Amino acid sequence: MDWIDLRSDTVTRPGQPMREAMMAAPLGDDVFGEDPTVNELETFAAALFSKEAALFCPSGTMTNQIAIKVHTQPGDELLCDVNSHIYNYEGGGISFNSGVQAKVLQGHEGRLSPELIENNINGRFDWLTRTSLVSLENTVNRAGGSYYTLPQIQAIQTLCKEKHLALHLDGARIFNALAVTGDAASDIGKCFDSISICLSKGLGAPVGSLLLGDKRFIQSARRVRKVFGGGMRQAGVLAAAGLYALNNNVKRLNEDHNRAKALAEALSSKPYVESILPVYTNIVIFILNKKVMNGEQFEAKLREQGIRVSAFGKDTIRMVTHLDFTEEMLNRSIKVLAAIL
Ligand SMILES: *Cc1c(COP(=O)(O)O)cnc(C)c1O
Repeated sequence: MDWIDLRSDTVTRPGQPMREAMMAAPLGDDVFGEDPTVNELETFAAALFSKEAALFCPSGTMTNQIAIKVHTQPGDELLCDVNSHIYNYEGGGISFNSGVQAKVLQGHEGRLSPELIENNINGRFDWLTRTSLVSLENTVNRAGGSYYTLPQIQAIQTLCKEKHLALHLDGARIFNALAVTGDAASDIGKCFDSISICLSKGLGAPVGSLLLGDKRFIQSARRVRKVFGGGMRQAGVLAAAGLYALNNNVKRLNEDHNRAKALAEALSSKPYVESILPVYTNIVIFILNKKVMNGEQFEAKLREQGIRVSAFGKDTIRMVTHLDFTEEMLNRSIKVLAAIL
């Protein structure tokens, strides 16, 4: 069966042109810094975000974890929203890899404000944990793909500078945010000390994330990547897919956003839906009406019709639109959602 897969935007598979780019890529040993395609990708991405340097890594978990490691000392504290990926979905890596603790904050739709951050910075007493890092997520996965505006980010940057805190962006879906706000990547880049971007989500590459920062930061990050076991050799085959993705798949992201809105619209009047989070980008999160069906039942019913979604907790469902979710699939999904009872 030709599945409609809405579980995540990670499920996309490289199409023919991307595969051809991978086949054609010149290669070398990237641990020696000699893979021309990896170097090209790193240079391209760094320039795009107005950063000095970049580091190609196997996953967004690794880019985030490397950033945390480089920005902190064991025993430090970082501030992040309670919904954040670094806290929820990276296997406890904040403490495991860096010996750092997280103070999780209750932001608005997964977004932190300068006031919230400022109220949670520890003072300089021996008995308090040293606050050293703030991590933002944009867009916020668990909050329905909500995003920050540039002035919101700039206000946080100003505070972090004043308080001598490093500021990291988990930008796994930063291009989804930029597609909506129209902000330039270079303006976002200027706000952060480090940025993680994913090539294997909405952009459709099979593997890969990039960590961006200044030269000194990336030099340290390169060493930590090796220690974490993330040094790759002829990684240009993967970097070529990343380059293809950045050049071709960024400008179409609003198609995904429109399809996500159409799915939400189709769900809005259904008796099995209790409520839907606002749809900001490519993520639809909704809560089922328990009296009609629970998450497991909903998932099973859709699976029978060839549609896969993920249950996000007992009664919460997440659907994510992406490059391989076509207009025809959208129409089929809307029909299934109408006929499900
Ligand atoms: C997917 C994702 C990551 C990275 O995930 P990997 O599977 O390790 O590449 C990081 N942050 C957010 C918000 C994500 O959605």
